[in-house]
Amino acid sequence: MLNKLSDTIYYLSNQDDKDRPTLGLVCGDQFSLIIDAGNSTQHAKEFLLEIEKLDVPPIKYLVITHAHWDHILGMNEFNATVIVNSQTNEILKEWQSYKFDDRSLQNYVDRNQISAKCMEIIQAEIPNRDSFKLGSPDIIFENTLTIDLGNKVCIIERIHSTHTDDSTIIYIPDEKVVFLGDSAYCTTTNSLFHFKQALLLPMINDIKKYDAEMFLLGHESICDSNEMNIYWEELTTTNRVVTSASLEDAIDCFKAENKREPNDNELFFLKAFVNDRIIQSK
Ligand SMILES: [Zn+2]
Repeated sequence: MLNKLSDTIYYLSNQDDKDRPTLGLVCGDQFSLIIDAGNSTQHAKEFLLEIEKLDVPPIKYLVITHAHWDHILGMNEFNATVIVNSQTNEILKEWQSYKFDDRSLQNYVDRNQISAKCMEIIQAEIPNRDSFKLGSPDIIFENTLTIDLGNKVCIIERIHSTHTDDSTIIYIPDEKVVFLGDSAYCTTTNSLFHFKQALLLPMINDIKKYDAEMFLLGHESICDSNEMNIYWEELTTTNRVVTSASLEDAIDCFKAENKREPNDNELFFLKAFVNDRIIQSK
């Protein structure tokens, strides 16, 4: 079932056991816009079935927040104008060259181009894989794009992000709602999770520029301003104390600055920033 956020905004919750991210629906007087394509044909179809149950204007646009497989592989199911930033388009070109038969998929896993989980979901939830080919986007933007769905403006912007270099967010000023995709998360390089220190503050600035009150995240569903502020606060305080690749030093510095032990989230962030130091030093 879709969650109703307001009269014009709905979302399908993320489903972690199937690696399914949050999918969004924004409705204007004339048209509707989808946020993210889902991780498979099956995921997209289930989303479309839920939308059919609502009396909403026809879907005209699909915005993809970034080119990770779980946000793009349902793309072909939408009869819509697909919007991506130019960097996402470059990564999609690689996906368009992929084949989806078992042998090809196993090759991509062996070469670390896709994860084993990704292969598993593709095998289970994309039918007719021998002929499956990912479609191409229709509108490619550089920095920002504004779409009016009929008395419903959506601001689409490529932002700095700790997760990928191709992160797009969608802000709906009427409702003060922002879809962040995975932009505010950490990333993984050579099996090591890390938060990109250099991009943290630019990202927070890019997101805070909008006066959002509700935040939809790719694998969390929804946060209010209070929850987001706690998240930013924990990230910035931990970021500040990581000045080398030593977790011990970072924890000591955290304790000295804050007169307490880091909580579980903060400990995770400290490790992620230290890991970033390790990766940057290689
Ligand atoms: Zn992602």
